Amino acid sequence: FLPQGKSGGGDNVMVCVRVRPMNKKEQAKGFANITTIDQARGTVTIAPPKQDAPPKTYTFDCSFPSDVRQLDVYNKVARPIVDSVLEGYNGTVFAYGQTGTGKTFSMEGDRSVPELKGIIPNSFAHIFGEISKAEGQTQFLVRCSYLEIYCEDVTDLLGKDPTAKLQVKEHPDTGVYVKGLSDYSVKSVEEMEAIMTRGNKNRSVGATNMNEHSSRSHAIFTITVERSEPGQDGEEHVRMGKLHLVDLAGSERQSKTGAEGDRLKEATKINWSLSALGNVISTLVDGKSKHIPYRDSKLTRLLQDSLGGNAKTLMIATFGPADYNYEETISTLRYADRAK
Ligand code: ADP
Ligand code: MG
Repeated sequence: FLPQGKSGGGDNVMVCVRVRPMNKKEQAKGFANITTIDQARGTVTIAPPKQDAPPKTYTFDCSFPSDVRQLDVYNKVARPIVDSVLEGYNGTVFAYGQTGTGKTFSMEGDRSVPELKGIIPNSFAHIFGEISKAEGQTQFLVRCSYLEIYCEDVTDLLGKDPTAKLQVKEHPDTGVYVKGLSDYSVKSVEEMEAIMTRGNKNRSVGATNMNEHSSRSHAIFTITVERSEPGQDGEEHVRMGKLHLVDLAGSERQSKTGAEGDRLKEATKINWSLSALGNVISTLVDGKSKHIPYRDSKLTRLLQDSLGGNAKTLMIATFGPADYNYEETISTLRYADRAK
């Protein structure tokens, strides 16, 4: 039995940014594009809209321009993580950014158009493609689950009752888990697609406004790959890798949206969990503190086994190109910058 979650070292947190194209509305209104991407250098430069200050330049592992192809994003930054999950290591891919900037486009994309598929469906094809190439007596077991965190409440998007609140528990040996969360064994890309479709439908159950709901909740699609093969000692060797694919709540400052009362309380929780995630990652990257504040939010608790240690993490920070988003864009780039 090989140790789980151990990796070959190297830099385990990768941060990339992606700007979406101007949309029709923005074009019609004639907003200025204030962003410049230099893909070779990995830089993004933002010009203040009033040109009252010098432009700001940030450098990341990767900076993707607005016309980058989905498959190129996958191959460049997500494929290595999925490969290591197939080898038995854990990984997390998450999209962070203001609502409307391309988080869902990056993670899921348009699944009905092959070239517009995002990271999640591309990972399905990749995983089952590798499994079909496996030789000899290597066997794979793939499972998946799909949950949502809305204001610190965890619900099962594949459950019989997608509105039931589930508890987050901790087991002394196996770590943090969600009690009662459905976990499906899947044998093909088609089964995986069907499961994602079902979960997405449940995401909107009970939501009066789907857009608003998805901008305020985190969705975590988790794929577990168990690989077993006979070792030279004749014993069966099992390796297990877990991949969390996360579409985060919108990063816009919720308190600015004019929320009051319960809405404001919810808003505070959303911003709280995003900053908890930022704190965990910057503490990991910094490497100076032994205490990683995983316990500060449900989000970080649930991702704990796949953030840090030997797990590989990829952040994709998304933003819009237009001048009126300047403040939010800078705030997104600062968040991403802290994770380097
Ligand atoms: P978010 O999930 O961050 O709220 P979406 O992914 O829903 O944002 O993107 C908002 C809109 O912009 C969608 O219509 C989406 O198809 C489009 N979009 C986002 N990113 C891109 C991109 N890189 N290329 C083309 N269209 C994009
Ligand atoms: Mg979205």
